[in-house]
Amino acid sequence: MNEKAQRRARKKRVQKKGVQKSGVCAYCGKCAKLTRDHIPPDSLFPGPKPSTLITVPCCEKCRESTLKDDEYFKVAMTLREDTVENPDVKLLIKSVLRGLARPEGRSLSHALLGSMHRVNLITRSGIYTGTRQAYSVEFERLYRVIDRISRGLYWRSVRCPVPGTHFVESFQFWPGVDVLPEDFRKEIWDYLRAHKPERVGNTVFSLWEHTPMEREDIRVFLMCFYERVFFIGYVWPKGWKPAPQLTET
Ligand SMILES: [Zn+2]
Repeated sequence: MNEKAQRRARKKRVQKKGVQKSGVCAYCGKCAKLTRDHIPPDSLFPGPKPSTLITVPCCEKCRESTLKDDEYFKVAMTLREDTVENPDVKLLIKSVLRGLARPEGRSLSHALLGSMHRVNLITRSGIYTGTRQAYSVEFERLYRVIDRISRGLYWRSVRCPVPGTHFVESFQFWPGVDVLPEDFRKEIWDYLRAHKPERVGNTVFSLWEHTPMEREDIRVFLMCFYERVFFIGYVWPKGWKPAPQLTET
């Protein structure tokens, strides 16, 4: 084996182990031994995993700190009335339920069962149609996952971590409610309507990325999971805009 082939084989072995050389973590920006993280988490994709999964370099501490939130995110995205018929969710659901039954999944299943409550079902036109059981969603955990995906996507585009002068914020996007500031809301929606999303893994993840006002350091990411659940993650300078308020459109 010549030297080039040896180098290639060594690189392959290192990649297989998931450990790379030292460098800057895409999330915390610290210099450390790097591993790789998938965004969105690869556990959201049924096997065989798509070859187009997005990976970013990160330190072991950042990667490990996200595992529980990733698991929660997967449960919250798949145990939903509006994703139950999705073909990728159907492929995943057995593993989700198995995970909840395992000893390490018990605290999560107890938390879900403990939060069960009855909710009124009201149609958009305001008609009461009965009640059903629901569990409380811990949005801050979902938003931590979306924040991390936004940081990773920012790194992928800009090739540096989100600087300390900027912040990252996430919202779930509900039809009829707009979470974006009015002055560039139209620009963003016009952009999204005119562009097709990047898709990863059949119906699992769709992404629209926009740089509003042509500012390279500002990013808006619209993400859709299982073709039903939308989140917006954005990155922009602190103090540049007031935090957007939820406003009815
Ligand atoms: Zn890190």
